Amino acid sequence: MMRLPPFRYFAPKAAREAACILRDHGAEAMAVAGGTDLYPNMKRRQFEPKVLVGLRRLEDAAAIRPNGVLRLGALANLTDIAEHPAIRARWPVVAAAAGQVASPLLRNAATIGGNLCVDTRCNYYNQSEFWRASIGYCMKKDGDICLVAPGSKICWAISSSDTAPVMIALGASVTLAGPDGERQVPAAQLYGRDGIQYLAKKPEEVLTEVHVPDMSGWRASYRKLRRRGSIDFPLLGVAVAAKLGKDRVIEDVRIVLGAVHTHPVEAKDAGEFLRGRVLDAESIEMAAGIAYKPAKPLDNADLVYAWRKRMVRIEVARALREVAGLPTGDLAPVVV
Ligand SMILES: Cc1cc2nc3c(=O)[nH]c(=O)nc-3n(C[C@H](O)[C@H](O)[C@H](O)COP(=O)(O)OP(=O)(O)OC[C@H]3O[C@@H](n4cnc5c(N)ncnc54)[C@H](O)[C@@H]3O)c2cc1C
Ligand code: SF4
Repeated sequence: MMRLPPFRYFAPKAAREAACILRDHGAEAMAVAGGTDLYPNMKRRQFEPKVLVGLRRLEDAAAIRPNGVLRLGALANLTDIAEHPAIRARWPVVAAAAGQVASPLLRNAATIGGNLCVDTRCNYYNQSEFWRASIGYCMKKDGDICLVAPGSKICWAISSSDTAPVMIALGASVTLAGPDGERQVPAAQLYGRDGIQYLAKKPEEVLTEVHVPDMSGWRASYRKLRRRGSIDFPLLGVAVAAKLGKDRVIEDVRIVLGAVHTHPVEAKDAGEFLRGRVLDAESIEMAAGIAYKPAKPLDNADLVYAWRKRMVRIEVARALREVAGLPTGDLAPVVV
């Protein structure tokens, strides 16, 4: 049985206090929310913090406020988000993405803040300490080279959050609380460009709230590719949000890919191509052919990476078809 290493636990009531504790203990400290990702990772010694700053007691941190804009406290759990009647009615894609994370039991504990900040993943890293020792470790923890791309200066571990691509597609922003105050940043700017430094925020900053704009007039879809229908992390996530005008002419659109890079990737060229066009079978096929290009899956997750790359095209087309109200089942099957 794998056991947690010893650590000191703080349970502050204010986000600023949490940020101060994180700052004061530097690299030895980490925040923990639901713990559904962090605790298993600690048992495998992927992280060895001496200090944990628990966020569960932060005041009002789990509130869900669907008034005009949707405000989600960072500690709101994914079951509450997936089942909330107002979210299902007005931001159904948020409920859908939250409802596809992990499994029902994990979603009861897992939080939206933790999901947006969840660690990147790689087959050479998400292993026991014993397993990683046997291959000489890799540079994300304890080693000095990348075992997937040995010449690479960066780590290619995969951004594996289901809700991150959706929040970026919806134009959401997050509030970050630091020792000296708060700031609000677009969700798209939360992510770095390296599987190790995968968050662009300061280490001591605590994510306190997610703000999703009023999406009246928009339609959205989230499609998740994985081996099993539950438990599995995404091998690909495709989030599409589109504002359609008269005769299905696209006024605005964002297509965001998850689990195909170290960070969620917006397929900007495909969005550019679609703006001003009618969303029909032909424009969808052409946009999907553009959207898959920035996906960079490597051989460090389940299933064959070349197939995962080809599936980006198919799943983008399916997501766009859902948004257009077209059938999704008649696209050519992809053979491994
Ligand atoms: C079997 C299994 C299957 C899973 N499947 C999926 C899946 O399909 N999709 C998916 O997206 N995830 C999956 N996960 C990962 C995880 O359960 C979820 O991402 C979950 O939402 C993480 O939230 P949490 O509150 O438990 O985060 P924690 O485990 O508490 O924290 C995760 C990380 O975020 C940081 N953090 C947490 N909250 C904050 C905050 N408010 N401010 C700053 N930093 C913060 C922590 O320091 C830590 O680095 C899976 C996990 C397991 C064990
Ligand atoms: S991508 Fe490379 S450095 Fe990053 S976790 Fe995998 S093997 Fe390690």
